[in-house]
Amino acid sequence: MSKLPNVTTSIFTVMSKMAAEYNAINLSQGFPNFPVDERLSKIVSQLAYEDVHQYTPMSGYPPLLAKIATLVKSSYNRTILPDTEILVTAGATQAIFTTLLALLKPDDEVIILDPSYDCYEAPILLSQAKPIRIALNDDYTPNWNTIANAFSDKTKMIIINNPHNPTGKILNESDFENLETLLEKHPNVLLLSDEVYEYITFEQKHISTHTRKKLFDRCIMVSSFGKSFHITGWKIGYLVAPEYLMKEIKKVHQFLVFSVNSICQVAVSKYIDLVDVNEIGSFYQEKRDYFRSLLQNSRFELMPCEGTYFQVVSYAKISNESDVDFCKRLITDYGVAAIPISTFYADGKDLKLIRFCFAKDNQTLEEAARRLCKI
Ligand code: GLN
Repeated sequence: MSKLPNVTTSIFTVMSKMAAEYNAINLSQGFPNFPVDERLSKIVSQLAYEDVHQYTPMSGYPPLLAKIATLVKSSYNRTILPDTEILVTAGATQAIFTTLLALLKPDDEVIILDPSYDCYEAPILLSQAKPIRIALNDDYTPNWNTIANAFSDKTKMIIINNPHNPTGKILNESDFENLETLLEKHPNVLLLSDEVYEYITFEQKHISTHTRKKLFDRCIMVSSFGKSFHITGWKIGYLVAPEYLMKEIKKVHQFLVFSVNSICQVAVSKYIDLVDVNEIGSFYQEKRDYFRSLLQNSRFELMPCEGTYFQVVSYAKISNESDVDFCKRLITDYGVAAIPISTFYADGKDLKLIRFCFAKDNQTLEEAARRLCKI
């Protein structure tokens, strides 16, 4: 008897595996293919010889906790307490899993906005709580009336993801006003804010929950150094939560991982000082603009991309196939891997849209575009 009968292998794994089998250019799973910052490589190689190989304290290596607090202060002018309000996690995935397992009880309802990233639902189901998946509008703006109507006396939490994977959409001021008004009416509902792409926005600046005082006492904010520092394989991130929630979250964290990989924590704590997070957005904006320009003469229609390192395109003018079939054929016939957007919807809604990751070196983007322009 499976505890998760409907869960299958993630679409990211499926597409990356197929890309490898067919030797295709992998623009499916989101990860950079360019080398990490050499300064970070140097830090890591030096650390191999230092005394950094044993457990750190459970909630994180203290200098890293302090530097996360400094980063949040300098990015958003919010003061958070390193000892009680920050937890270093094995990536955002573990932050999210741990939070949901710690805070949900059987029959609680959690509102998720579709298309949604794939790691939210399983921990909700394992907590015997109920995911309530509400579709965003077709232009990926939230429909606050539909969302408000989904609230019930069982609603325990709403999850937002901003900037948004897979759509590249970001929430604006009026979205936050609507969210705050809604949550004021539901004082016991918590907010889980997945902001792993917080530093990857373009024309408009990211609005973080760290700047929304009204949300502080009920918000769990999740971030990932994997995204911000181009090190997805390190699996290191953190969450910020008010102390009364953090106490519960740490109860689960200490038995799930106890403490996160020590060398990675020390390395990130040293590297943070060298990085200007304000440059991450312009770095990826250049890649976005270059990739879009390369696809300009293709038959794909480019959707807006306000943040993240994902470009969604429509293939409606090219084919009627389902997006999953189209992505498979894109690999087998054209040698480029993408992610079908229907897999992010509970009902598999298929709008003939696929997602490309542009966190790649220019040569890869050029060769992928050359192949895509032939279709
Ligand atoms: N976040 C990555 C993506 O959206 C996938 C990471 C994973 O495979 N779990 O492509």
